[in-house]
Amino acid sequence: MRSIRMQGNSIVELVETPDPAAGPGEVVIQTAISALCGSELHGYRGQGSAQGNSGHEAVGTIVQIGEGVTGLKVGQRVGACAIAGCGHCAYCDKGQYTWCKSFKFYGSMHSELFLAAARACHPLPADVSWEAGVLLTGDGLGVPYHTSTKIAAPEIRNVAVFGVGPIGLGNVLLQAHLGRRVIALDISPDRLAIAKRLGAADTVNAKESEPAEQVRKLTEDAGADVCIEAAGRPETALACFTAVRTAGTVVFNGEQGPVPLSPSDHFIRRDITAVGAWFYHFSEFQPMIELYRKGLRVLDLISDRYPFTEAPAAFAKFSSGQSAKVVLDYR
Ligand SMILES: [Zn+2]
Ligand SMILES: [Zn+2]
Repeated sequence: MRSIRMQGNSIVELVETPDPAAGPGEVVIQTAISALCGSELHGYRGQGSAQGNSGHEAVGTIVQIGEGVTGLKVGQRVGACAIAGCGHCAYCDKGQYTWCKSFKFYGSMHSELFLAAARACHPLPADVSWEAGVLLTGDGLGVPYHTSTKIAAPEIRNVAVFGVGPIGLGNVLLQAHLGRRVIALDISPDRLAIAKRLGAADTVNAKESEPAEQVRKLTEDAGADVCIEAAGRPETALACFTAVRTAGTVVFNGEQGPVPLSPSDHFIRRDITAVGAWFYHFSEFQPMIELYRKGLRVLDLISDRYPFTEAPAAFAKFSSGQSAKVVLDYR
């Protein structure tokens, strides 16, 4: 089969690799669509050794079933959750695979065939297209959905999203759909325009004006009820604490290293809550499907579609910061 291989330095190649074989509890899926994730850009741009195949959001048709797999069959349309729990701990019982101590990560999904854990497959209902499916079973909508469960309080009226790459845009779409007033902040005018289309009430170009100050201006000087850090940058993380209202909540979506935060200044004296939200729970697929059926416009998150064979161009576009979600089509 053909697969992509990241070589670092923004080089992606198509290579011939052996077909995967399903081990016990696994299935092989013939890919219909895979989606690019912001977390892949580090490996894409990185220097040095080859980074491999970082695809971890894909949907397709089951073509092979491993030993002991029940409830799935060859020919079935599924989306795969890249994180599969052990299957027999208290968290796995509840479909909370990311909290399982011995979860396994399945990647290499930018390939004509890929391997997935059977217990991490979501059969796709007939009314869910491949494109909707890749967003609803990957972290494209998964992270924004999981994030929304941390900020469910009905008194939250406005949400500022710092950084509107794909994950930030998903937060914009979902929070606006839930009736919150959304302020989107970024340095890319293209992405701010997309945020506006997805429902942001206000957009702030963080290159042109001081972000926290703008958020305060837009919230009658109170600050936002919630600030979501989706840029993965220390200065953005700090700006979230400045821009959040007293007794408000900061959510961390963007992966990053240490940030200098003071318990007194950033938390205690203004009663600030900060929470992390990583990936999504396997069990959150059903509520996401329900949101989709109630009109959540997930497909609007996709800005660019490329045939799989044009993966190098797809990555270049994604890396330029001018896109929302970029997908590869294998059909
Ligand atoms: Zn991802
Ligand atoms: Zn487990």
